[in-house]
Amino acid sequence: MSEVLTIALSKGRIFKETMPLLAHAGIVPKDDPETSRKLILDTNHDDVKLVIIRATDVPTYVQYGAADIGVAGKDVLLEHGGEGLYEPLDLEIAKCKLMTAGPVGVPEPEGRLRIATKFVNCARRYYAEQGKQVEVIKLYGSMELAPLVGLADRIIDVVDTGNTLKANGLEPLEHIADISSRLVVNKASMKMKHAKVKALIDHIAEAVKNK
Ligand code: AMP
Repeated sequence: MSEVLTIALSKGRIFKETMPLLAHAGIVPKDDPETSRKLILDTNHDDVKLVIIRATDVPTYVQYGAADIGVAGKDVLLEHGGEGLYEPLDLEIAKCKLMTAGPVGVPEPEGRLRIATKFVNCARRYYAEQGKQVEVIKLYGSMELAPLVGLADRIIDVVDTGNTLKANGLEPLEHIADISSRLVVNKASMKMKHAKVKALIDHIAEAVKNK
């Protein structure tokens, strides 16, 4: 059998929005990850497999070559650092913004700010660039709660419509980065499986352009 190409994807929005792009490259999975419990999905090509993993794990699988290619949000890539990865293509899907947010109308307190976020590396980098002393508190979800119960002064989170912030009495404040999903490729796979990887990137790029 010819060399297998493994593509890492997360369930939900990224999977749904990536499927039409893969279909343009002629790749269709045999199972639906929303209903199947399989973590490795076969496709209509014997030499293309999909692995279904947590969004934050995608860069790690691709970095170590456990997957040749992956789709990950820029937020996840910024947090991971992008080591061992090429990022050849912006898929222009799952768009949102990485922002700071805080309680509506509450000015920034004096002294060391407390920031709750799951994006701890992004937070440290952002405030270091601002020359601000902060204490970063790592959370795994529901960041919006932190300022409401006095755990933090500010949060850093991805914001789409802003409805979740608003529903919790928070407002978006500073814009840190525009986010969208990116195609990432393992650096060794880009060399060793160049023809296959290049063909896939080209097909997907065409699908993105025609959207
Ligand atoms: P919002 O539309 O701002 O109320 O977003 C709802 C929630 O979905 C937010 O708390 C975000 O954490 C999450 N979210 C929105 N857009 C994205 C995205 N593109 N990628 C990942 N999470 C998102």
